[in-house]
Amino acid sequence: MPAELTVVDHPVLRDRIAVLRDETTPHGAFRRALHEASAIVAIEATRDLPTVRGEVRTPLETTTGERLQSEVTVVPVLRAGLAMVDGFLRLLPDARVGHLGLQRDEHTLTPRGYFERLPADLAEANVFVLDPMLATGGSAVHALDRLVEVGARDLRLICIVAAPEGVSAVQERHPDVPIWTAALDRGLDENGYIRPGLGDAGDRVFGTPAVA
Ligand code: URA
Repeated sequence: MPAELTVVDHPVLRDRIAVLRDETTPHGAFRRALHEASAIVAIEATRDLPTVRGEVRTPLETTTGERLQSEVTVVPVLRAGLAMVDGFLRLLPDARVGHLGLQRDEHTLTPRGYFERLPADLAEANVFVLDPMLATGGSAVHALDRLVEVGARDLRLICIVAAPEGVSAVQERHPDVPIWTAALDRGLDENGYIRPGLGDAGDRVFGTPAVA
């Protein structure tokens, strides 16, 4: 049994997804909507993080409180994953941030790494991989493979729009990695785009022209 796929449902999130899907949304509003959607998904994806109880001294008396047990690391998959980082850091301001640059070969649709900068000692961290579009699953699998290689053990994949093909690819290769997404779409078209989807997330976040 693969780890769970959670499709996060919240009225505000549904509103943000509609803004992201709308082809007339300009890049500033697109970026803001992706930031807000990521923050809502972050709340759900962190719901089961372990905590430790300890004593807290208020100005008035001593009580008990809970602190997060483990270090949190977020790893955006460049480029589009960058737009999800701030949503996570609003909730987890002390999280470390690693970067994985993966580029999709438009012909073979397979990912190729072009940049990597990861925090040390990931074995004890809760690691959140941020990639808004889970399409073929190639990039997500590549990113998770790499993080396992460097020692990460508690991995979670966070997307905004997922295709069933991508979910299956990740669950097959990394059955222990739970996935959170804001939307599970119909499937992929012949160019590897998610339908109905929202187009090329990286281009829409950064206002760059779509590559023909
Ligand atoms: N990457 C995107 O940005 N959009 C898709 O639809 C698929 C992959």
